[in-house]
Amino acid sequence: MYKFIIATWCLSLAVMLSGVEASFAQVNSDSLIAVYTQKMQKYLVKDNSIYKIISLCKAGVDINPPESDTSELGSIINWNVVDDLLKIQLKEKINLTFVYGDMAVGISEKYSIRDSLKPLLHYKIALDPGHIAGDLATAKMEKKWVEMKKAKIQLIEGELALATALILKKKLEAEGATVMLTRDKPNISSFGIDFKKWKDSLFHKSLDSAYARGDVSFEERNFLLKKANDTEIFRRFFLLEEMHERARKINEFHPDLTLVIHYNVDETNKNWNKPTKKDFVMAFVGGSFSAEELDKPEARIDFLRLLLTDDIEHSIEFSKYIVNSLSEKLDVPVALDSCAIYLRDNCITTSVNGVFCRNLTLTRMVKGTLCYGESLYQDNIKECKALSKKDASTPLSVTNGIKTSKRVEEVAKAYYEGIINYVKKKTP
Ligand SMILES: [Zn+2]
Repeated sequence: MYKFIIATWCLSLAVMLSGVEASFAQVNSDSLIAVYTQKMQKYLVKDNSIYKIISLCKAGVDINPPESDTSELGSIINWNVVDDLLKIQLKEKINLTFVYGDMAVGISEKYSIRDSLKPLLHYKIALDPGHIAGDLATAKMEKKWVEMKKAKIQLIEGELALATALILKKKLEAEGATVMLTRDKPNISSFGIDFKKWKDSLFHKSLDSAYARGDVSFEERNFLLKKANDTEIFRRFFLLEEMHERARKINEFHPDLTLVIHYNVDETNKNWNKPTKKDFVMAFVGGSFSAEELDKPEARIDFLRLLLTDDIEHSIEFSKYIVNSLSEKLDVPVALDSCAIYLRDNCITTSVNGVFCRNLTLTRMVKGTLCYGESLYQDNIKECKALSKKDASTPLSVTNGIKTSKRVEEVAKAYYEGIINYVKKKTP
């Protein structure tokens, strides 16, 4: 009934499994079931109907695509294959680890050559400054701006995030790191061009591919081609494509660490045109899936990667250092799950304060150790005023022309110290 040839199941899994031959070594399936059942509950399953799609049985990890997906038959990743995969990863020293029982098997060689004077030497760090906008018109198109009418303050999240990432990049490079930014200029997307240029050059080709993959329906394609205005194309198609491009760039870079940089708002403060008293630090890592979020084969592959590797555990550990540094240096309290509706409804709370599993495009698609950071609330009046000042001392050549604030410099410094503390702890 099931297809046991996993290599045909999906291309990326086939790559992961290439070279795996049938092994009949004895593996203790009961203990593996116990380990991965616990992990699914702890980090990955927000909605129990997921078990109809992915479950663990005596033979292995059992995948039954939902009825809506007829492109694929059910399959089982045999426990022997999981075991072999672990050995291949160890042999090839690729940056993936598997958990067996209580034992985390890691790849340490990669971090062995360190220089105490330059703690980040040989580290590859990907920084993803959230959003795109560098002006109010684009910020309104992506719905990422704060405008306090009384105080006459406007903040553009994309600009704050980019300035933070550029300041942080300079600091990390000074310590020996190789840093890649998914975008580095205001209004220029991760494709290296702005929305208008993308629309003129890549839009039709991207839409055809998305339609062929089944990501866009026939009706939606027609709408986008014939009726949609720029804002509709931007919101309904461009933003998702652009997010996928960020994930692709990061994965192609093979970073040791990925930091996604955002500035938060109080989600109950509609339109963000009046101040909130709230101000919290939080960070997201992968996990917390609902069953509908597994309707595409790519999503199921990501789920399995998060289940069978240590990506979530490493990301929680990294995020712990980031959240602690942000909270301490910026004097902003760490969020509890009761602090925001989405934390309670969409996330799974981890054992680390302020770190939550959340199934966002980047926490799902980016491989390896990741922290999706939300350092503070822009619509908190104190923060809003501090962020709107143009009192930074960083040269404009560093921020690519963005005039920014001391508060943004403090956020970059807090991220920097969190990264340094994590790396030092990891390689004493
Ligand atoms: Zn954001």
